[in-house]
Amino acid sequence: MWIVPEREIAGLVSREAAFDAVEQVFAAMAAGRANNFPVVREAIGHENALYGFKGGFDQLGGALGLKAGGYWPNNLEKRGLINHQSTVFLFDPDTGRPVAMVGGNLLTALRTAAASSVSIQHLSRPDARVIGMVGAGHQATFQLRAALEQRSFEKVIGWNRHPEMLPNIQKVAEDADLPFEAVELGDLSEADVIITITSSFGPILMVDHVAPGTHIACMGTDTKGKQEVEARLLANSLVFTDEVAQSISIGEAQHAVASGALASDAVIEIGRVINGDHPGRQSADEITLFDGTGVGLQDLAVAAKVVDLAIEKGVAIKVDI
Ligand code: NAD
Repeated sequence: MWIVPEREIAGLVSREAAFDAVEQVFAAMAAGRANNFPVVREAIGHENALYGFKGGFDQLGGALGLKAGGYWPNNLEKRGLINHQSTVFLFDPDTGRPVAMVGGNLLTALRTAAASSVSIQHLSRPDARVIGMVGAGHQATFQLRAALEQRSFEKVIGWNRHPEMLPNIQKVAEDADLPFEAVELGDLSEADVIITITSSFGPILMVDHVAPGTHIACMGTDTKGKQEVEARLLANSLVFTDEVAQSISIGEAQHAVASGALASDAVIEIGRVINGDHPGRQSADEITLFDGTGVGLQDLAVAAKVVDLAIEKGVAIKVDI
């Protein structure tokens, strides 16, 4: 089998390649040709860590496997390591033999940013010019960098509960030669596209903060109990997701569905839009909302691409198992 070390990933996979892999796998899921397996996520009772697996099989792309990992909250302070840790394992769908083990930390950031970018590409207004960020942590920088490539944005505005983190996203804006402005939540109504990417357990973005015609990509809520957006905002929007089962159980839609504000069958898989089975945005005044919960197939798709590139460039390590 092949090993692709974490240190090699940055030199292998581009944002464009991650976008294409994620767009293809969303399309395969909506066509019933790729399935995510039930997610396992457990508190292990050690180091306050959450550990689990996200796996699946993409019949069209041929990727079978899982991402194992989770969240170790003490890593950075105690050991100088990042808190989110993950590794992707790929298997041969014909034989069950292991094919590759791939460092999954940077891949997670790239595939998550690719998901919101796919939603912006397919659902935001073509004339979107202002992008608003809610969140300014590790993922936010990847999200913004990828999103800026989807429309001709002219300005970035941002809010974060911890304002001292805002320079993280300001730097991304400035690197792209765009002005950045730190704003109050109420000023986000200036944005045509809003990305939320925080670890919040309560609504931050409310109905009054969002103008008609906005596209919102909700990317932070990936666990039961987390929430970034007022449930009423989902009821006022056309809601899309990567996978409906995750959206209504661990994604942003969990609260709107539980309170009865949104019917679970109103949530649309974005792959249907990619496949041309759903029209997506239908008017310039409509609010579209993408609930990006993060599915294992995204990891497998991007990891499979990385393995091919690593073998081609001679940086994959071959081991017997
Ligand atoms: P991070 O620790 O680097 O940044 C956390 C961000 O959340 C910061 O902006 C911080 O100010 C903000 N924040 C923290 N606590 C908050 C609170 N109580 N209320 C409001 N804001 C708060 O984390 P990160 O790596 O950038 O990850 C951000 C979120 O994205 C996490 O919740 C993570 O689980 C989630 N995530 C989702 C996916 C997906 O596929 N959807 C993938 C990876 C990470």
